[in-house]
Amino acid sequence: MPTPTLRVVIVGGGIGGLCLAQGLHAAGIDVEVFERDAAPDARLQGYRLNIEPVGSQALHDCLPAHLWRILVATAGDPGPGMGVFTERMRLLMREDAPPTERDSSEQAHAVSRVTLRRLLLAGLDDIVHFGKEFTSYRQNADGTVTALFADGTSATGDLLVGADGANSRVRRQLLPHARRSPVPGVGIGGKLPLGDGKAWLPKEMTSTKNMFLPKRDFLFTAVFRRREAGSATFERVGDQMRAADLDPDLLTQDAKDDDYVMWAYVAHRRALPANLLDTPAGGRGQRLRELVTSRLIDWHPGLRELIAQTPADTVERFDFATAEPVKPWPTTNVTVLGDAIHSMPPVGGLGGNAALYDADALRRALIAVSQGEADLLPAIAEYERAMLKNGFAAVRAATMYLRLATLPNRAVRIIARTFFRLCGVLPPLRRAIFSD
Ligand SMILES: Cc1cc2nc3c(=O)[nH]c(=O)nc-3n(C[C@H](O)[C@H](O)[C@H](O)COP(=O)(O)OP(=O)(O)OC[C@H]3O[C@@H](n4cnc5c(N)ncnc54)[C@H](O)[C@@H]3O)c2cc1C
Repeated sequence: MPTPTLRVVIVGGGIGGLCLAQGLHAAGIDVEVFERDAAPDARLQGYRLNIEPVGSQALHDCLPAHLWRILVATAGDPGPGMGVFTERMRLLMREDAPPTERDSSEQAHAVSRVTLRRLLLAGLDDIVHFGKEFTSYRQNADGTVTALFADGTSATGDLLVGADGANSRVRRQLLPHARRSPVPGVGIGGKLPLGDGKAWLPKEMTSTKNMFLPKRDFLFTAVFRRREAGSATFERVGDQMRAADLDPDLLTQDAKDDDYVMWAYVAHRRALPANLLDTPAGGRGQRLRELVTSRLIDWHPGLRELIAQTPADTVERFDFATAEPVKPWPTTNVTVLGDAIHSMPPVGGLGGNAALYDADALRRALIAVSQGEADLLPAIAEYERAMLKNGFAAVRAATMYLRLATLPNRAVRIIARTFFRLCGVLPPLRRAIFSD
């Protein structure tokens, strides 16, 4: 039966949950978000997120037009395509660059996390509730579902969406058999500001994304360059920011930082000292940077310099885990999106894009329900099919990159490099494997 007065309860106000809330709110659907963090700025990290065309399309479709325009105006250009190199910077393959004349919703954008969060929250003051830690849900006899929070309050709706990230409590209750397992890779990442020239940096570093596949370990780089000076952005969209009740200074807080090259080095856990985290926090960045430098002895000098000149206070370590594939389950009035179901290592920058894809797919399904064109459970079942297919394809891709990064066997690595070289000289093979 159609549910024209649909009420949606979203647990988790991260990228996916807020994108969905924006899309539903714009469509006039009754939606509320319950977020554990105490306040909007409780956990803002100052690095940027690579939004690929699939994520851009979702944000474009879910956000009001003026917020999308502000997002594009404040975003950086991640550059066209991706290069795959050896550690001596011999090109193995260049992924085809998308045509440049495409609409902004079909392009990639390097978005500040701080800016993205503020834009995703804009206009949702009465809809997003902070300091609400979800504990469990209860499915009611009248077909509704109630979310229970640690402060003793609750919220009831026709649908509960678990958008509560990789350690999702909604998933644990809905799918207790779904597992996340640690993967053997350890990541170390940092940011090199591009402020004062850096003429010694290989030009590929400052123009596009790159993957380096040496005989051991792995390096990924991405450039974050603003498309225009901050003052030009204010001139163009400052009024729109103020009209949307957004403070231009707060919105572009970290977009005003220097452009930078972000690097992520990945190695097998066994290859790194077990006591890596024993160093006191103050000296940890320097220790991690020294460790990476010591493993790049025979690499291209520009790559070694990239690591050596990175400010130690930007260098961090990441442990990885990945969701194990989940078989479709009987659909109910509780569903999940994003990292809550298909979390993956951040290698390749796919997780946020997959969460945005889910948000847009679920938005479309729920609009059809609210307009009386579909029944709730079949619409959710169709969403879950598409979400599992897309999300776990991304999990497989991220896991494949990580496997390549941690392959202990040199012979297999040489085969992998030969594979990329073949893709480099055979465009039809490259397109068959890497398009989309
Ligand atoms: C270093 C790094 C770099 C990355 N770079 C990229 C990139 O360039 N591109 C990309 O696409 N992805 C990237 N990712 C991955 C991306 O950040 C995640 O995939 C994405 O944030 C997932 O979005 P989400 O909405 O599913 O979950 P989240 O963004 O994790 O949001 C979950 C929200 O739920 C809230 N929550 C959790 N538990 C509860 C509870 N019990 N009650 C209420 N609220 C709760 C949390 O506070 C949080 O706000 C990167 C990840 C890392 C670690």
